Amino acid sequence: MNKILILVVEDDASVRNLITTTLKTHDYKYLVASNGESAIMEASSHNPDVVLLDLGLPDIDGIEVIKCIRSWSNMPVIVISARSEDKDKIEALDAGADDYLTKPFSVEELLARLRVTQRRLAFMEESSVTSNSVFVNGRLKVDFAAGCAYLGDRELHLTPIEYRLLCLMSKNVGKVLTHTYITQKIWGGSRENDVASLRVFMTTLRKKIESEPDSPQYIQTHIGVGYRMMKVE
Ligand code: CA
Repeated sequence: MNKILILVVEDDASVRNLITTTLKTHDYKYLVASNGESAIMEASSHNPDVVLLDLGLPDIDGIEVIKCIRSWSNMPVIVISARSEDKDKIEALDAGADDYLTKPFSVEELLARLRVTQRRLAFMEESSVTSNSVFVNGRLKVDFAAGCAYLGDRELHLTPIEYRLLCLMSKNVGKVLTHTYITQKIWGGSRENDVASLRVFMTTLRKKIESEPDSPQYIQTHIGVGYRMMKVE
């Protein structure tokens, strides 16, 4: 499963070596770049499956690298940041990053993020091949064309906002969506109250789709950042 190509963008040689050694050990193919300009060049010439991108680069800010890549590609970008502030993560996610790792991170965390991304890639490929309008994730099923959702054989009774929220999370399975992104998609703006409303709707949605709403299986909470729907096996 590991034969995907990963572009590692990191100016710190010791972190870069840790990442590439891990990738090598686990049969991933990789390319490296140590600054933003070569990252953009490598990304455009080799079209990697995933980009692991350090935000603090010597030449261009990582956020600008994401924006540049996003102007022509949807390739998954996992941001690596020494800056643990939520603000940077949120800015990177809003610029189009898919996920994040905060330094220092463990080899297990890195591999877990890559597995999530690979499942997302496989899902995107599968859904573009079949181009079906039904999303299936574990026992959860969303029929976009018919506008209804099911858990097992049971139809879910969702309010219009819960349904839109579920569709949005489903269409972005595997990707961390920020509060701002979600509220803009659902309410068309991002007023202060929207995040509070989002929490309320997320709670009611979870009660309907999760067997244990306190330890959700489908939708993860990223405290201070947003939410992500996980691909359930
Ligand atoms: Ca750096």
